[in-house]
Parts: sequence; C-alpha cells; structure tokens
Amino acid sequence: MQGTPTKLVLKPNAARALRAGHPWVWSNSARKLPAPLPPPGTVVELVDGREQFLGRGLLDPGSPILARVYARDPAEAIDEALVVRRVQRAHARRLELIDPERTDTYRLLHGEGDALPGVTCDVYGPAAVLRFDGAAARKLKTWVAGAVAAVLPRCTLVERAGRRGAESEAFELASLPGGGTGELPAPLLVREEGLLYEVDVLRGHKSGLYLDQRENRALVRAHARGRSVLNLFGYTGGFSLAAAAGGAAKTLTIDLAKPAIAAARRNLERNGFGPPQHQALAANVFDWLNERGRAEAPWSLVVVDPPAFAPSQAALPRALAAYRRLNASVLRRAPPGALVLTCSCSSHVGRAAFLAVIDAAVTEAGRRVKRLAVRGAPPDHPELPEFPEGHYLKAVLLEVLAH
Ligand code: SAH
Repeated sequence: MQGTPTKLVLKPNAARALRAGHPWVWSNSARKLPAPLPPPGTVVELVDGREQFLGRGLLDPGSPILARVYARDPAEAIDEALVVRRVQRAHARRLELIDPERTDTYRLLHGEGDALPGVTCDVYGPAAVLRFDGAAARKLKTWVAGAVAAVLPRCTLVERAGRRGAESEAFELASLPGGGTGELPAPLLVREEGLLYEVDVLRGHKSGLYLDQRENRALVRAHARGRSVLNLFGYTGGFSLAAAAGGAAKTLTIDLAKPAIAAARRNLERNGFGPPQHQALAANVFDWLNERGRAEAPWSLVVVDPPAFAPSQAALPRALAAYRRLNASVLRRAPPGALVLTCSCSSHVGRAAFLAVIDAAVTEAGRRVKRLAVRGAPPDHPELPEFPEGHYLKAVLLEVLAH
C-alpha cells in the first residue's frame, strides 16, 4: 500500500454523499475509472471534480461498492497504525458497555460504524470471529487480526468467509496471527446477561448468535413475568431464554432450522428451563400460524423476528406486504393486554416504513395498540446517521388495547 495513490474523481452526487460522511463509493459514482484498473485493495484518493480531497479508501473493482472510505483526514494514511487506533477505540467503547461478569459475548467491530468498513468481529467468550466483506476489507486482515489479538490476548481468532463469498461456510481456525491456542471448547458456551448459550461459530447463523438483539431480549425479559411467550423465528432460543429468566409461565420457540431448535432445547435445559413449560418446535412459522397456531390458547407475549424479507430494493413492495400479513395474523389472535415485539432486519425497510407497515397490520387485524418502545441495534452495533444502509434493525414493542 505504498507509492503514489491512484486518484478517483467522483460525480457531484457521490462527492456530496462522501462529504456528508457516507463511507461507500458505488461503482457508477466515478467520473471515470483509472485504466488499467488497479488490483483490489489498492489505496485510492477520492476527490471531487475540482480535485478537492474527500477521503482515502480501498478499491474493490468488480464489486458494486467500488471503494470504501477508511480515512477522512488528508494526513491519515491507511496503515497498520490506523487499524490499531480504530480497534482500540472500539474496544474501549465495549468495555464501557459490557459487564464481563454477566456477558462475555458482544460485537467488537461493526464495520462502517467503527470506521473499519467491511470488517466485523464478534467475541464469543474465548473466540473472536472475524469477517471481511469484500476484497478491499480482506486486505486489512493481518493488521486487524494483530490488533484484535492485542486487545483480546486470550482469544482464539476464527475467520468466517464474507457474506458474498461462494465458500460461505469456509473458515480458518487460528491461522491468523496471534490466534490464541487454536482450540475451542465443544460446545462453546457463552454468557449473555447471565444466561448460558451454546454457539456454533463455524456453522451458526451470522457469526453464531444474533448479538444485535441483546437489548431487545432484555426488554422481553423485563416484561415476561407470568406471561405465556410465543417466540417466532426463534433460532437457538434467545428470546425464550430471556423470557424464562424473566419469569415467563411458558415459552414456545419455533424455527425452521432443525439444528437451531435442537440447540434451543439444550440452551433452555442448561439454564434450568425444561419441558413441559418450555418447548421448542421445528416448523415453518407461516404454516404453523395457519394450521396449528389457530387452535392454541392465546399467547400474552409474542416475539416476531423473521429473516430479512427485502434482500434488495426491488423486493421492497413484496416484503412490506409480507411484514403486514405476518404481523396482522399475529395481532388478530392477540388478546387485550398482550405484548408483541415485532422486528425487521431488512436494511431496505427504513424505520418510518416499518412503523407504517405495523400500523397497517394493526388496522388490518382490527386492533388498537400502544407503542411501548421503538428500538434498534445496541451500542456495540454503532450506526452512522449518514449511512442508511447500516440502519437495518428495527424492533417495536406493542401492547394490544381492549378498544
Ligand atoms: N430471534 C432470533 C434470530 C432470528 S433470525 C434470535 O434472537 O436469536 C431468523 C430466523 O428465522 C432464522 O433462525 C431462520 O432459521 C428462521 N426462519 C426463516 N424462515 C422461517 C420460516 N418460514 N419459519 C420458521 N423459521 C424461519
């Protein structure tokens, strides 16, 4: 990453977005591309039409995100020291947030939100799981691994392949510098708010757990006493564990993924919440709601946390309709006084759009509600206001009213 940097002249709209703090350059945003195209990971100096410096980024030709911005100060180089500064700053914020006695799993690096675009690192007790999204971010691997190993000297570093990687299940264990002992306990057990979860960091969803729902699980825990809790799209049972720990009378976890449901059963049992009060079922939520769900006694707390329905902007209208139908079908059966925590993790569905679709579902179900809380991701998933692509998680807690 030395020598004279390549300059990339941006179109006016892209220059404006970058100046406002947006960390991406789309492939159609450059006035013209350097020829021949430099290799992935090349440092580029991003400038406007008048050659004014906008930022310094890493190039990823061939990706829809042509470059990601890592430095905004003209004097700041993209080097190991920059990566170390960013990792140390992120770690310092997490230390303020996480009580290690109760919680040993959290997101250490949240890409753009921690000024390291494309780089994530999730901590699961003795493991730190790194992911690099795109060829540009991958160039930083050695520096990031070294910096993470320095702040978490006892952790074994694991790499999961990037989201778009063809080999999405590929991994390397402890082949990164400072990679700890290279051995992970099996099962790997972590603590969230004093509750024990088993995690499969190599094959589980995301990097193992949905850490972004930690505070929303705490919200459910706070409201769960005496309630019967239906946890739809429950994965390994996180919301059910939280509800059980909060005094729920019973819980039912439903997820399509059989291994997740098997893990949910083990997670419930290992925290002292076994059947018959606490059950987990491998089923399709949509079929279950249409068939067996109708016959069940009404639930007094329902969590609706489906996968992203809108993987692209083009899929948005259908996704909004799907959120409306799903939530209406839950709300229709919810008695007065019931609570519904409903979530969306589609970045293409903005917060206002999600609230509007939930309002429409309430109307369709012939209900009235109170909004008790509108939440997003917790502070270990920091958001940049000027980067809406990163505002993916919405969670709304509703109370169903009698009239
Ligand atoms: N609430 C979970 C995360 C849920 S992610 C937690 O806090 O840990 C979405 C989940 O929906 C995934 O586990 C996926 O397996 C599941 N899923 C996707 N489609 C489904 C369907 N049609 N029926 C049931 N579960 C489904």
